[in-house]
Amino acid sequence: MRTMPCSAPAKSFKATLRCAMVSMLAVPAFGAHAAITYSVAFNDPFGQATSLYSAIDSHVGAALATWGSSLTGSANVAVRVDINTTTPRATGASVTSGLVRNAGAYNIFEQGLAYELRTGIDPNGAAADVVLTFNPNYLANELWFDPNPTLRSAAVASNRTDAMSVFLHEFGHAIGFNGWGDANTGAPPATYRSTWDDLVSYNGTNTFFNGARAMSLYGAPVPITYGNNFHLGNLPGPGANLIPDLMNGVLFNRGTRYNVSNMDLAILSDMGVGVAAITPVPEPATYAMFAMGLLALGWRVNRQVR
Ligand SMILES: [Zn+2]
Repeated sequence: MRTMPCSAPAKSFKATLRCAMVSMLAVPAFGAHAAITYSVAFNDPFGQATSLYSAIDSHVGAALATWGSSLTGSANVAVRVDINTTTPRATGASVTSGLVRNAGAYNIFEQGLAYELRTGIDPNGAAADVVLTFNPNYLANELWFDPNPTLRSAAVASNRTDAMSVFLHEFGHAIGFNGWGDANTGAPPATYRSTWDDLVSYNGTNTFFNGARAMSLYGAPVPITYGNNFHLGNLPGPGANLIPDLMNGVLFNRGTRYNVSNMDLAILSDMGVGVAAITPVPEPATYAMFAMGLLALGWRVNRQVR
């Protein structure tokens, strides 16, 4: 079992928790194809986000239900939400990982949440399964919390980042977009790697994801964000047409909703996550036009993806 850093340095979860433990409800994430229930506990020692606890709780549930609608398996997800000012914006990760197999010189691990979905076994018992970390100022002054994060029909404030998009993105890390590979080259440690690390290659300039299903969908190895491993696309660089993706590592436009894409699901499927269905492939032209639209709106660019 190893802790899994997102794009932030690995954390020690042994730190003393002066938690404001609230909202310890086991709530079904309705609409999920995977059978997912969840609870939320807040680690907010200075009470900096108390007014947003309810909104955060609803977004956790909606994000898990959205992912669950495309995945298979079952999990009871204990989510801990850390509030601190040392995190610039937001991070998300499974707290631990589960062994998938030995591959000779190294072991391959999957994210703890993926392990629980696949096996039905919680890899760390009653401890938190997923930790989301937020800067309180980012929560209060940048994110736009949806009055109904399940419906997602209200207009997103044009001067804010859609919180539901951020929650979906961070749970994407908790499910699969994570590992120990080098930020630039993707190279993993000698004796262990994640299911993501195992499918990454480096050509001397850029890194790529080489899962069969993802490559089939993209038509080539899928470009990973240089310097921001565990994300998709570059701008400039290979994979500009992946910038609109939920799991892109370059930018989230304000006033814009992002959602789980077929590419995200194909990648997770390649990593062994049970994917219920991948809907028909969007035409490449759709990707291209969307990417151009984003470029045209470059003045709105909000480089806050982590
Ligand atoms: Zn990220």
